[in-house]
Amino acid sequence: MSPPPVGLNSSWVWPSSGGFSCWPSSASRPASVADECVDLGYDLSLPDSVPSSKPRGLSSMNSYLRVATVISLCVFLVPLSAQDASEGEIAGAATALESPEQYLGYALGERYTPHARVVGWIDRLAASSDRVRVERYGRTTELRDLLLVFVTSKANQERLGELKARMARLADPRRLKPGETPESLIEDLPVFVWLSYNVHGNETSSTEAAMKTLWELASKDDETTNKLLDQAVVIIDPCVNPDGRDRYVNWFNSVVGRQGDPNPQSFEHDEPWPGGRFNHYFFDLNRDWAFMSQIETRSRIPHFVAWHPQVHVDFHEMGAESSYFFFPADRPVNQNFPHYTVKWGEIFGRGNAAAFDKRGWDYYTAESFDLFYPGYGDSWPSLHGAIGMTYEQAGHSRAGIVYRRKDDTLLSLADRMNHHFTASMSTIGTAVAHRADLLLDYQRFRASAVEEGKGGPLREFILVAGDDLEHSARLVDLLRAQEVEIRQATEDFEVRDVHDYYGKAFESKRFPKGTYLISLAQPTKRLIKTLLEPKTTIKELYFYDVAAWSLPFAFGAEAYWTGEDITAPAEPVVEATRSEGSLAEGDSTFGWLVSWERMSGVRMAIKLLVRDIKVRVATKPFTLDGKKWKRGTLFIPRGGNDVELEPVLRDLAAETGARVIPARTGMTEKGIDLGSQRFLRLRRPRVALMGGPGISPTSFGATRFLLDELYGVPYSVFAVEDLGRLDLEDYTALVFPEGFFRLDDAQKNKIKDFARDGGAVIALGRSSRRLSKEGGGVTAITTGGAEKKKSAAGRVLSIEEREERRRRESTPGSIFRVRLDPSHPLAFGYPREVAAFLDGTLSFDPSGAGIPVARFADAPPLAGYIPEKKERALRGRAYASVQGQIVLFANDPNFRSFWHGLSRMFLNAVLLLPRR
Ligand SMILES: [Zn+2]
Repeated sequence: MSPPPVGLNSSWVWPSSGGFSCWPSSASRPASVADECVDLGYDLSLPDSVPSSKPRGLSSMNSYLRVATVISLCVFLVPLSAQDASEGEIAGAATALESPEQYLGYALGERYTPHARVVGWIDRLAASSDRVRVERYGRTTELRDLLLVFVTSKANQERLGELKARMARLADPRRLKPGETPESLIEDLPVFVWLSYNVHGNETSSTEAAMKTLWELASKDDETTNKLLDQAVVIIDPCVNPDGRDRYVNWFNSVVGRQGDPNPQSFEHDEPWPGGRFNHYFFDLNRDWAFMSQIETRSRIPHFVAWHPQVHVDFHEMGAESSYFFFPADRPVNQNFPHYTVKWGEIFGRGNAAAFDKRGWDYYTAESFDLFYPGYGDSWPSLHGAIGMTYEQAGHSRAGIVYRRKDDTLLSLADRMNHHFTASMSTIGTAVAHRADLLLDYQRFRASAVEEGKGGPLREFILVAGDDLEHSARLVDLLRAQEVEIRQATEDFEVRDVHDYYGKAFESKRFPKGTYLISLAQPTKRLIKTLLEPKTTIKELYFYDVAAWSLPFAFGAEAYWTGEDITAPAEPVVEATRSEGSLAEGDSTFGWLVSWERMSGVRMAIKLLVRDIKVRVATKPFTLDGKKWKRGTLFIPRGGNDVELEPVLRDLAAETGARVIPARTGMTEKGIDLGSQRFLRLRRPRVALMGGPGISPTSFGATRFLLDELYGVPYSVFAVEDLGRLDLEDYTALVFPEGFFRLDDAQKNKIKDFARDGGAVIALGRSSRRLSKEGGGVTAITTGGAEKKKSAAGRVLSIEEREERRRRESTPGSIFRVRLDPSHPLAFGYPREVAAFLDGTLSFDPSGAGIPVARFADAPPLAGYIPEKKERALRGRAYASVQGQIVLFANDPNFRSFWHGLSRMFLNAVLLLPRR
C-alpha cells in the first residue's frame, strides 16, 4: 500500500521515509543463521474448536498463547546457499522437484526475478508436485499470465472441487443441505488462506517471498508442514501486478552492476517516472478491488468470490527506513465490520509478533494502515467475510537489492523477502491453529449478514434502470461480479418509506418495471451497504485515503433506499439490461438525430468522427415531428457526407447502443433549424495527452484508459517537459492530467497559441493551478480561495495538538452537489445538478474571468468529510471554469476510473470545444 501519499491525489510524490532501522546487515550475519530452526509462535497442537460465540479479547489471547507449546519449523532466513532448500528434509516425490535456485541459477533474494521466470518455475513445480496445482485466471494488458497456485496436501488436491463446494455452502446459510450444520460442514474442512503478492509492482520483495513460501510448502515433508497442508488450502497469487513488477524489475536489472550499490543516492535507487507501482494503465490496483476497472481486478474477483477464503493477506512494501507492519489495523475501521473482524486482526498480529520477536526483527501494528476504504486488498476481502490484512515491509524500489539506511545498517532484498516469507508462514500457521474458529466465524459473518439485512432499518436499495441504461447496467454488472444478488421488477410497483440520495424522503413512490432491487438480506450485505449507502459513517477523523465513494453518485445512477421489504414481482438478474441500439425506420431525407443525454450518443459521435463522417451538435433546443430535442443533440446530416450512411449507422447503433432517429426535413417546428449556425460542427478529435515527470501517473492513467479503452478517442502521449518544442498542428485538444509541474515561457506561449488557434486546453485538478492567473497566466481564471492561512499568533500547540488539528483540518475527498449552466457545451447531456468528487479545496473564482459552468451548490456535501469552514467557503465557487477554449477542472473528473458520472463532461470538453 505504501508509501502513503502526501496529498490524497498526490500518490506520485513519495514522502521522505521516516520509521525505524532495526536489523543488522545481512552481510554481518553468521552463515549458520541461514538455516536456523525457527519458532513460528503458534501452536499447531491446539484443539480446533474454540467456541466462536465468545469473542476473545487480547488479554485472553495472551493466556491462549502462553499455554501454547510452541512448535518449531525450519525456515530459511537469509540468502540460501546452493544446497539449502533442495536437500535433507525433502522427501518422497521431492527428489523430482526443482528448487527455485536450480531453475533460476541464483538463490532467491540475490536478484529480482522477471515474471516469465517466476511463471516458468511455478509451472515446472506444479508439473512435478502432487501438492501444487496452478490455474491461469487471466492475462494483463501486456499479455502476462495471472496465476493462482493452490497448495495443499495430495488428499486435499484430490477433493478440491468438493471442498470448494462445501465452502460455498458454509458461505451461505441458505445453501445448507437438509440436516447439515456449520459444525458438521467444517469437521474436516481445511481453512482457505489466500496470499496476494506484489500488487504494487515496485514493492518487489514479495513475489520472491511468494516463491519461497511455495517452495517451503511444496518441498518440506515434516510433521508441521504436513499438518499445514492437511488443514489449509493455501491459494497463492504470486504477482497481482506483473506489468508493473516487470516495468520495475527490467529497469532495475538493466541499471544495477555486478553487485548492488547500497548508496541511496545512486542511480539504481531512483526509479524513473511513472514507477513500477502501477499496472499498464498506471492504475493503483490496491484502490481498485471494489471498482474493478482494471483487467487484473476484473479477472481475479470472480475467482476470489468463488473460493470463499477465510484469510487474505496483501503483501506490500513501504519506506526503506521503516520496519515491518502487520495487523491489527489502524483507525478508522469501516463501521460495517462486526467486532470479530478486528479481533482476528489481533490474533494474526500475535502470531506474526511471536515469529518476529523470536528473530529480533522490528515491527509495528495499529499505525498508518487503516481498514476503511473498500478498494483495498484488506477492506474488500474483509467485507466478504475473510480476515483481510495488509503487511508492509520496509523497502520498495528505493531499496534496490541492498540499501544503506540512515543508521548505517544494510537492508537487503534477502532480508525483505525473508520477513515477508516468515509472515506468510506464520499467517498460515495461525490460520491452521484456529481453523475451526476461523471457519465458524466466517460462517457467522455471512449468516449474520443475512439476518441483519432482514431486520435492519435499511432493507433494500432501489436502482432505477433509467432512460440511459448504461449507468445502471455498469453498476449492476459490477455488483453482480462481486457476488451480490439483484432482482429486476417485472411490473411497475409502489414502495412506502423511500429515501433518495439527496436527503429527500417519500411516503411512497412508484417505480417502473425494469427497476433493480438489491436486498440487504444476503451474505454480502456489508459490502453492499458499504458501496451503496449514500453516506459512509465516519466516527474518527483518520484518513489514509478518500472519505466517500457512494457508487450511485460515482456512476451517475438514480438510486433510492427503503426500510420496507419489497414484495413486487421480480426476477433474479444474471446480467444487466443494456440498450440494444437501433436505426429507426422513417424518412431520413435530411439526416438523423441522436440524443446526447445517453452516453451511447457520445460514443456514436466519437465513432462517426473517427470515420471522418461530419456531425453537428445543437447548442439550443428544438422540436421536430413533435419530439423535443435538447441541447447537445447530435445531428448527422445526409448533405456533406458522401458515404452511404445507413449501413454505417446501423452497425454503429448496434455497437454503441444508440437510438438513431431519422430527420425528414431541416426545418423544425420550434427552436433552431438543423442548418442553423447554432449547431457546432465537430472536428475529428485528436488529443495531445501530457505525461512524464510532474504528471500524476494515476490521473494520467485514468485519462488514458478513458480515451484508449472506454471511448476509443485518438490520442498521442507527450512529456510536459517537451511541450515547448512540440508541433501540435494536428491536435484538437491538449490535456493536462493532475500534476505538479512548472512551465517556462516557451511552454506557456505554446499553450496560449494552441488555444488561440482553436484547440481545447483541458487541465485537471492541481494542473489547473499552473494554467491559472496565479500559476503563470495562461488564463485569467483565478484559483485558491477556500483555504485562508491563519495568523501565527495565539497559543503554541503541542505536537499532539498539532496532529489533532491536522486531522480536523484534513480534506480527504468528499462528494459535492455541483450545479451546472445548461447552456454551456460542457454541461450538455446533464440535468441541472450532478455529484462531483473533490479532494482538497481547489476551486475557481466564479465572479472573475472565465465562465463558471459547474459551481458548488449552496448545500453541505453529500458524503465524506470536510471541515465546516472550508465547506462553506467552497459554496458558490466553480468546480469547472472555462475561458475561451481553456477548461480548468478542480479535480480529475475521471477519478480512478470509477467516477463515471463526469466522463461526459470531460468528453464534452474534448469533443465540443475545439474550433480547429
Ligand atoms: Zn503497496
